[in-house]
Amino acid sequence: MFENLTERLSRTLKNVSGRGRLTDDNIKDTLREVRMALLEADVALPVVREFVKRVKERAVGTEVSKSLTPGQEFIKIVQAELEAVMGEENEGLDLSCQPPAVILMAGLQGAGKTTSVGKLGKLLKERDSKKVLVVSADVYRPAAIKQLETLAGDVGIDFFPSNVEQKPVEIAKAALEHGKLKFYDVVIVDTAGRLHVDEEMMDEIKDVHKTLNPVETLFVVDAMTGQDAANTAKAFNDALPLTGVILTKVDGDARGGAALSVRHITGKPIKFLGVGEKTDALEPFHPNRVASRILGMGDVLSLIEDLERNVDKQEAEKLAKKFKDKKGFDLEDFRSQLQQMKNMGGMMGMLDKLPGMSQLPSDVKDKVDDKVFVQMEAIINSMTKGERAHPELIKGSRKKRIAAGSGTQVQDVNRLLKQFTQMQKMMKKMQKGGMKNMMRQMKGMMPGGGMFPGR
Ligand code: GDP
Ligand code: MG
Repeated sequence: MFENLTERLSRTLKNVSGRGRLTDDNIKDTLREVRMALLEADVALPVVREFVKRVKERAVGTEVSKSLTPGQEFIKIVQAELEAVMGEENEGLDLSCQPPAVILMAGLQGAGKTTSVGKLGKLLKERDSKKVLVVSADVYRPAAIKQLETLAGDVGIDFFPSNVEQKPVEIAKAALEHGKLKFYDVVIVDTAGRLHVDEEMMDEIKDVHKTLNPVETLFVVDAMTGQDAANTAKAFNDALPLTGVILTKVDGDARGGAALSVRHITGKPIKFLGVGEKTDALEPFHPNRVASRILGMGDVLSLIEDLERNVDKQEAEKLAKKFKDKKGFDLEDFRSQLQQMKNMGGMMGMLDKLPGMSQLPSDVKDKVDDKVFVQMEAIINSMTKGERAHPELIKGSRKKRIAAGSGTQVQDVNRLLKQFTQMQKMMKKMQKGGMKNMMRQMKGMMPGGGMFPGR
């Protein structure tokens, strides 16, 4: 999700010029780009207009803090507004009521309702230890009832039988009765959808809603339908008191427009994302994380690409082979890593690409000095072959000798060894995951994680 938006935004947001203060003038072009990017991401037009208006109002006249460039200041504003439009905090389900708590699913045919019932049932059972009953009121397609039965069996939750002869309201009533009688914590009710919003369907689900009085009425919508998702959301929201949204098929949607539109149009939070066909592919939706992902991902990806381009292929293969041979990562490997980092434009070049890092105050940045690499390399150069292969040998007198040989202090040697140990741990974790995993690890290590002296 959001790949395209991210790409466009990260390209344009850097171009905000000027200094001191954001003005109409220096954000005009960028604002136009933001608008285009959102439209291309298939965000609904009213949402785009409102978003751009709010960013503009907030930006114009804003003082640029000393440590930031105007572009960075602008990004901060865009990020805050992205969060605002999606709802800031994750809102989970509110199941606090006299049990059973009833969850009603609504949405068009093919949106992913039945699949989401299974996923949600599994989540509530496994994460919250709830006793869950599911039932299908989709009486138009026998296969739909069977589909839910199978799904319930797969995830190990109870299924309340129904058949196509029954009326949806009857089914709902019977399932609720059964839920009370057998002390279920949660009853999830799946419903029929249509291909388009029609009155008959809305009347039916309104009746079911009245019968059940659910604590959660979740609107399930396919992210890939983009602008249409916003329109259907509006129709359902007008007909039913929705309490939240499940946005499905996010895994197949590179644009992400629906995520930005749905909340704004319905005023209801997106509570979960469906991210695949499997029953565990359901994630709580965190607007703040998603917002920083929209703005930061491009940079991380480009960093990974840089790494992959620059890391000497042979070195990488040697390293990979070493892991296969189960010998592990030694100081010799650490040295060749340092050399590769130097080839990539040094630590500053890398840092600037990590999300949030560009916002580090400049006095912190100044301490991240590429000379550090040179020094680290010098220290390793002063070790014997045996010491490089067996760092655990390096104790008191050896440390003194190495420090003297490299023109450093014993504490520098200690620091290097500590960094080496961290790197070694990271490498172990990387054995399976490859470069992307390593980047994730490094990101975690960076701010104050001991990689940099003086912090
Ligand atoms: P319903 O008509 O609303 O009940 O929709 P279904 O639950 O039957 O889902 C329709 C299709 O969408 C099925 O093939 C599902 O496997 C698929 N589907 C549902 N949710 C997701 C999702 O989050 N990601 C992907 N890739 N497919 C999904
Ligand atoms: Mg269904």
